[in-house]
Amino acid sequence: MTSVLYVASEAFPLAKTGGLGDVAGALPAALTKLGVDARIMLPAYDGVVRRLANAGADIKPGPALQNVLGRFPVQLLRSEMPGTGVPLWLVDCPPLYARDAHPYAGPDGKEWNDNDVRFALLARVASIVSTHRDVNDWRPDIVHANDWHTGLLPYYLKQAGASARSVFTVHNMAYQGLYDPAVMDRVGIDPAEFTPQGVEFWGKVSFLKAGLIYADRVSTVSPTYAQEIREPGEGKGLEGVLRMRGKHLAGILNGIDESVWNPMTDPHLVQPYDPANIALKADNKAALRASLDLPAVDTAPIVAIVSRLVEQKGIDILLALLPAYLNTGAQIVVLGSGDKHLESRLIAAAAAHPDQVAVRLGYDETFAHRVIAGADILFVPSRYEPCGLTQLYAQRYGTIPVVHRVGGLADTVTDEDDGFTFDALTPAAAVAALVRAGAYYRKRPRWRAMQRRAMHKHFGWDICARRTLDLYHDVLNDRPTATEGTYGTALTASR
Ligand code: ADP
Repeated sequence: MTSVLYVASEAFPLAKTGGLGDVAGALPAALTKLGVDARIMLPAYDGVVRRLANAGADIKPGPALQNVLGRFPVQLLRSEMPGTGVPLWLVDCPPLYARDAHPYAGPDGKEWNDNDVRFALLARVASIVSTHRDVNDWRPDIVHANDWHTGLLPYYLKQAGASARSVFTVHNMAYQGLYDPAVMDRVGIDPAEFTPQGVEFWGKVSFLKAGLIYADRVSTVSPTYAQEIREPGEGKGLEGVLRMRGKHLAGILNGIDESVWNPMTDPHLVQPYDPANIALKADNKAALRASLDLPAVDTAPIVAIVSRLVEQKGIDILLALLPAYLNTGAQIVVLGSGDKHLESRLIAAAAAHPDQVAVRLGYDETFAHRVIAGADILFVPSRYEPCGLTQLYAQRYGTIPVVHRVGGLADTVTDEDDGFTFDALTPAAAVAALVRAGAYYRKRPRWRAMQRRAMHKHFGWDICARRTLDLYHDVLNDRPTATEGTYGTALTASR
């Protein structure tokens, strides 16, 4: 049986700020179903311990470690992930994690200024648990690290001469964990590694680069993004490193939790529906309109965005196309939170067009379900998108995605088949795609057929888990990774 320690800075439902949390919550459970002995390791943020206690989970003390990174006492806690029962290690270190806020930032929205040490400690503890039999008699075959927060983990494993092999998954190349060289002393990096072949990146130490260089295998979350990041632009300066990893870089598409995102059983909806009863979706549309004080109009679709409101997500493109697009009569619903200036421009747009634009700021899981079920179209104008999850939820709910054809969006949406795509990220190109979608929407039989095709697509975690297990077997057997082969094929499989 393959054993895996899966290490992340967030995992749904205990801590989540975005797609990484979804993956870390779901993939280990899906691997378990394939017979993998998977365990998750997370920091014991205040909220995590509270949520576990609320879910009635047992939290037992594990081993205690002294002087991690030279000075921190750590108490390991053992528990289980709520809902899936996957064994969970929590790294309890109150000076670093007992802060009742966001995993990465304080109440003022600014990143904690000791995030270097906070996440290096997580990686260090994971490497100790994976290598020291006196701490833990369970040894993983594979240590699976995620994003820059755990980028030092493959390095620490190499430094310790660990027998475990490492896999490093990049969920977004834009977040790199860059610090001044003095960080090496704080987190225990040998200064000899401060070279272009090591952790050095334009005079800084890059935690992300450490993961890319020292991991036995690197993966990212869609086949197209795995290609894009080998080029300037999406490679964010690390394209040379990614090209160098060659056959050891794979693109494996994320999945979605098809039990959480199921329009037949979704407890958040006023009216469940399935492909045989799509007309019932209209009740959810009426409820969404009522909850946002949007008047009913029959001829135009409701277009939704559920997203972090940041530059990556193309919110500026949405704002720029409003004057032209609102003339078609469409209504737009936005649920999101993020940059304050984007938030205030959206609020201003809603105030200027109260019958056509509704904006709900904040993070609201329940409302996200209601928006995705109630809208006709989900708009995703991301500048780049490693995988993207909302377009997959939308397809499952018969809500047709209109997306910029990049990254995982290109791998999951086929133009005029199960959605609409546009190539140039300009307001004009996006409006043209939205108008094409609107024309389909008014031709009811064609629209219904498209909705049914989208709803029948299968994006369960089982597919992602099978491919991830293939990757583990390749690394354990020292076979090259089939970037363009086994893992590289876009998923269009129907049920
Ligand atoms: P990213 O990880 O870049 O934020 P993804 O599309 O991969 O983008 O994942 C975003 C996840 O966060 C999805 O599960 C989406 O439904 C959720 N999400 C984003 N914004 C909100 C919000 N304001 N309220 C509820 N859920 C949200």
